[in-house]
Amino acid sequence: MNANIFAKANQIIKSCDAAYLGVIDESGCPHVSTVSPIKPENIFEARFATGLGANKTKRLQKDRRASVCYRVGGNNITLVGEAEILTDPNIKSELWLDEFIDHFPGGKTDPNYCIIQFTAKRVSLWIDDESAEFTIDELLTVQSRCGLLCKWCSYRESHSCRGCVETNGNPFHGECPVAKCCQDKGYAHCGECGDIPCELLRRYSYDDAEHGDNPPGARITMCRAWAAMKS
Ligand code: SF4
Ligand code: SF4
Repeated sequence: MNANIFAKANQIIKSCDAAYLGVIDESGCPHVSTVSPIKPENIFEARFATGLGANKTKRLQKDRRASVCYRVGGNNITLVGEAEILTDPNIKSELWLDEFIDHFPGGKTDPNYCIIQFTAKRVSLWIDDESAEFTIDELLTVQSRCGLLCKWCSYRESHSCRGCVETNGNPFHGECPVAKCCQDKGYAHCGECGDIPCELLRRYSYDDAEHGDNPPGARITMCRAWAAMKS
């Protein structure tokens, strides 16, 4: 599994028209239905429009445990966490899509219209023929200065790399200028730097055809998530 796994997973869910939502039914069994994600940004959370009278709404009001699954091509992302029902008028208005009108003729203020807000705690992935399982807390543990995810980097084994944090900026290939810059400035990672993405980081992330990020900018996305977690 590659060191860009977070951005790769985000890219996949953004291309998904439909997802599967599993909830716990009245008999304690899992019950899965299809749902349409609204403006998905990342694997941390998901939102779906539904009706206050819908079975999944009633079930989530009794038991918040839920699971969301996305599938695109051969890639699969399954999230496990909790969900809640949101009825705040501002949130409903912000997330409204014109296509909802068929289900909610009263529009944004239709009293039956509500939002399922899902928050992930665990992730199981099958991406590019590799699998991984981890918690969101693990993902949000800073693993490198530049935003690469050393934990899932194949170079850990193939090149016995101990990562830039543990080696104080000297991974298997020698001193890393990004890690050195970050450490010299006293930052734990580049997401703490007001200059992100600087020219140096951009070069590594976007411009290196062989070792750069897939998708481009992946390590910058991860750095920003680490920074957002602290704020
Ligand atoms: S520091 Fe090593 S383990 Fe971490 S991303 Fe770079 S090559 Fe991979
Ligand atoms: S974003 Fe650029 S300037 Fe800022 S710490 Fe990282 S490498 Fe240095």
